Amino acid sequence: MRRTFAFLLTLALATVVSSAQSRSSKTLDIYFIDTEGGHSTLYVAPTGESLLMDTGSPGGRDADRIMAVIQAAGVKQIDHMVSTHYHSDHVGGLQEVASRIPMAQFIDHGPTSEPKEQAPGFQKMYAELYAKAKHTVVKPGDKIPFDGVTVVVATSNGEVLKTPLPGGGKPNPACAGFAPRDESRVDPDNTMSVGLVFTYGKFRTVNLGDFTWNKEQDLMCPNNPIGKVDLYLTSHHGIDQSGSPALVHGLQPRVAIMHNSTRKGGAIQTMQTLHTSPGLEDIWQLHWAYAAGLEQNTPALFIANMEDNETMANVLLNPPATFGQARGPGGPGAGGPPPQGAAAGAPNAPGQGGRAGGRAGGGRGGHTGPAFWIKVSAESDGTFSVTNTRNNFTKTYAARK
Ligand SMILES: [Zn+2]
Repeated sequence: MRRTFAFLLTLALATVVSSAQSRSSKTLDIYFIDTEGGHSTLYVAPTGESLLMDTGSPGGRDADRIMAVIQAAGVKQIDHMVSTHYHSDHVGGLQEVASRIPMAQFIDHGPTSEPKEQAPGFQKMYAELYAKAKHTVVKPGDKIPFDGVTVVVATSNGEVLKTPLPGGGKPNPACAGFAPRDESRVDPDNTMSVGLVFTYGKFRTVNLGDFTWNKEQDLMCPNNPIGKVDLYLTSHHGIDQSGSPALVHGLQPRVAIMHNSTRKGGAIQTMQTLHTSPGLEDIWQLHWAYAAGLEQNTPALFIANMEDNETMANVLLNPPATFGQARGPGGPGAGGPPPQGAAAGAPNAPGQGGRAGGRAGGGRGGHTGPAFWIKVSAESDGTFSVTNTRNNFTKTYAARK
């Protein structure tokens, strides 16, 4: 009897120790999914709880890619489905994804701010989805319960976080010289984006959806309520309607990940703001970007999806004549658009889209079929690694001292 008890006790202790060990080695995993200049990012907490932000564009391509990542991550249910705002490159794939995996909670900023829906019938479809799950409208300062990870709403419905997070609240020197933009042509629902800050131990990352340049000043000036972040998802796909120095240089990210496509995002100004950001170590991109050209795209090692070989060869053989000049297909000094009838799986039709145009519309351009993603694994001590699934290149960033 006593021996049995001792044996059981030993077994119980061994179980506690081993589960504690496996627990302490667990990571917050983040999957940046290529939706060709749309947005979809999957966050998986150390316990396996899941939070998906946005679902890319309609048409099945992005839903397939999102489901491929969900399967690779071993996720069986989306516990929190966050729609940052109602543009078709963010909510376009929602119905398709929701038909393929259970969703327990929908989170958004409230009704759309635009009379004309970019994703037709979306509000009606959303009401049907709401009826089957929990629906939560968030405001800045709200916390989304997410096992072991503190998720705070930084922006929602045009409002911004006023109560600083731990480590935040200090004056932001990058506010000096802030130059407001004329945002009269910016689609208003961008400014309503739900933006989240994730803190896992000493690791912090931010995702502000398509929050815009002028609104960044509201959030970050004169005091920065977020503090420093380790990882920054470039706001608004790397379009230069967002990503001001006040935001980027204020947050001082170590790593930036850009969810651009070949012809959306990668704007010269955005790239230069990143390249000059204090403490920035690397830029990772979901795609090669024509706008950034040879000079400003990050090295291919850090790019998850390129172009077809023929187009890339054209780019290499015909570099832009002028440094810093934005260049679109057929533009000055361009390597020229992809050839007509290029191989399947390759690129956009010539003349499609245009450089960093700004209006949402994620379906524009891009290749069909599967795509590579970028995976981040963060530990609570602040160490994190980034992996490019195209070439399996992984770089580990040691915790900040
Ligand atoms: Zn967008």
